[in-house]
Amino acid sequence: MKKILSILAFFVPLINQAQTNPVQKKAADFTKENATFLNNCYKQLHENPELSTKEVITANYLKTTIASYGYEIIDSLGYESFGAVLKNGNGPVILYRTDMDGLPVKEETGLTFASKATGQKENETYPVMHACGHDIHMTTWLGLAKLMVQTKKDWNGTLIFLAQSAEETAQGAKKIVSSPAYKKIPKPNYQLAIHDHAELLVGEMGFCDEYEMAAVDMMNITIYGKGGHGAAPQRCIDPILLSAQYITEIQSIISRNLAPIDPGVITVGAINGGTIGNVIPNQVVLKLTIRTFSKEARDIIMKRLKEIGDNLAKAAGLPSNLMPKYDLLDMSIPSVYNNPDLGKLLKQSIQKHFGNTAAVKIKPMMIGEDFSVYGQQLDSIPSYILWAGTLTPDRKAATALKANKEIPALHTSTFAPDFEQCIPQNIIMMNVVLMDLFKK
Ligand SMILES: [Zn+2]
Ligand SMILES: [Zn+2]
Repeated sequence: MKKILSILAFFVPLINQAQTNPVQKKAADFTKENATFLNNCYKQLHENPELSTKEVITANYLKTTIASYGYEIIDSLGYESFGAVLKNGNGPVILYRTDMDGLPVKEETGLTFASKATGQKENETYPVMHACGHDIHMTTWLGLAKLMVQTKKDWNGTLIFLAQSAEETAQGAKKIVSSPAYKKIPKPNYQLAIHDHAELLVGEMGFCDEYEMAAVDMMNITIYGKGGHGAAPQRCIDPILLSAQYITEIQSIISRNLAPIDPGVITVGAINGGTIGNVIPNQVVLKLTIRTFSKEARDIIMKRLKEIGDNLAKAAGLPSNLMPKYDLLDMSIPSVYNNPDLGKLLKQSIQKHFGNTAAVKIKPMMIGEDFSVYGQQLDSIPSYILWAGTLTPDRKAATALKANKEIPALHTSTFAPDFEQCIPQNIIMMNVVLMDLFKK
């Protein structure tokens, strides 16, 4: 409760301050004048989500609208991705990304504009929902694009508004950077994105310098054996037992091969092998996800997964042609590295305009985000993803009184951000950030 009161106290000066600062005032006036447009845009996107790589209607809507503001469209960036460029004299080049895809989740928010949409994935029909709030990102993106045109006199440089397909499946960004049309996009000095945060308050921006999200690898490992009767194990080499040993042993990579301050996760999410209790099968397939921040940790895990697997197989008496098969799926993405120098600039900007408490420190997480693919590490383009608050103090207070006290998380069927408050606030805050960066 104490925290809630202090947050409420913080909101009052924030509003007063917004009226005294000309950049904020312009942005705040813009969001008020465009409130109906923004709310309708959000509701329309929310009601009509599309699955990863299939964001046809969504992309068309964004493209037509942003083109009507005077942005030059760069198409053919893979799937439904496109860029929208606004050149406005000499100055920094800033890329700002939104993602566009929904998730195969059945919405249970009870909202009047809740999604009833379905989508096709591998010949199956799924309900679709913007359960990760990419509709918040898109509406903020479109509103900000419009505001930046209206305030063209106040800044100089080039803006790249990038709309990306398939973030949830980690396919979109890789497709963009490998497409020939990507070369038409000017090289940015800075790359930015926001992601909504289910528990931060509207008006709070979450910062996590350096590694913020993990590199993601998915691997299928086939453990071979020699099948036979379950009652005669001496004539077999049991891949079920071998798998059990392997699953246990690979956790020692995390505890004994990685440096304790260099995190890593190995999760075996599926074990498929065998049919019946009295038959020893020929093979078992394990499905893993591997999460790391540093390249060193990733290299160690990959090397040790193979060493442990091969040596256990050898110890079990398997010949060299029956060593385990390690299939790294084509879904790998690098870790998200938020440039600390850029973070400092962004933090200064947010704190100067919205007060110190508006910048909140967020701990790193082992989830993935393919924003990391846009040359963060190899080309060292300073990049940053900010967490954006979506919760009003009122709703946080109301939730605190409930029995389970749980605010619906991202990717859940009841996730319902306070869009009428957080979208205008995102636009105002990102506008201030861009204006300050354009002065650099
Ligand atoms: Zn997501
Ligand atoms: Zn997301």
